[in-house]
Amino acid sequence: MFKQMLKPGLIAGIIGGVVSILVSVLLILALLLPGQAGITLYCLATPIGLLLSLGIGLLAAFLAQRQSLEKLTANKAAVAGIIAGVISSIIGVIAVPLTQQMPNWLGLQDKMIEVQLTPSRMMGLSGEQLEMARTQIIAMQKSGAANTTMLAGMAIGLACGLATGVALGAGGGALGALIFKPSLRRKLVCTNCQAAFELGGNAFIEVKEAGQPDVVDYCNWDDLASDAAKQQRAVITDVVKAKGQGRQWQCGMCKTAQAY
Ligand SMILES: [Zn+2]
Repeated sequence: MFKQMLKPGLIAGIIGGVVSILVSVLLILALLLPGQAGITLYCLATPIGLLLSLGIGLLAAFLAQRQSLEKLTANKAAVAGIIAGVISSIIGVIAVPLTQQMPNWLGLQDKMIEVQLTPSRMMGLSGEQLEMARTQIIAMQKSGAANTTMLAGMAIGLACGLATGVALGAGGGALGALIFKPSLRRKLVCTNCQAAFELGGNAFIEVKEAGQPDVVDYCNWDDLASDAAKQQRAVITDVVKAKGQGRQWQCGMCKTAQAY
């Protein structure tokens, strides 16, 4: 089960990690906007990050479902979501030095102080108290204490980030299992009689001995015993993944053999 979920989790995690970095860079660039707008946008980083983590889990579930003919269970999809959450968090950690330094490169130190003052502003501190807080932050930065505080803040942030990333990834994955449906179906249309077979839908494959074409015919999946249905799904998954390479199939209606 873990092995099966590894690939979709990895892909979703890498995509999610890269998107997260892009979003943080964009949010920092938003600080270049004049006035309060950029600061407000920057302060949305946390809710945006939470939504992203959930999205990464959803993406993992989507990718996991796409490779399976069977409806994914929530706990299976959650595993893919957890893997995606861990991978994207690790990628995010690697980018932290970059996103931490970017405001300095862009000359946004003053704006960053404004960002740090935003909570106090929201709590309704008076102008005088805000000035005091500002002086304090500047003094802390000068004494180098800010670096220590910042490092401690980063460590806490990373731990929390990993925990939320994993939790939301798992939640997104489980949610995705409810939303996404199996789509690994393959349509085959006979070149001779135009009979349309939907593998996994209204048709199944009967594998013959080596060298002989597989027989594709209509079947009622509801009539298949659960063991037989499971085996059939495995066969179809094989054929769909291999794209029928080097194999032929025979139409159950007119018996014409043709390439997949
Ligand atoms: Zn045919």
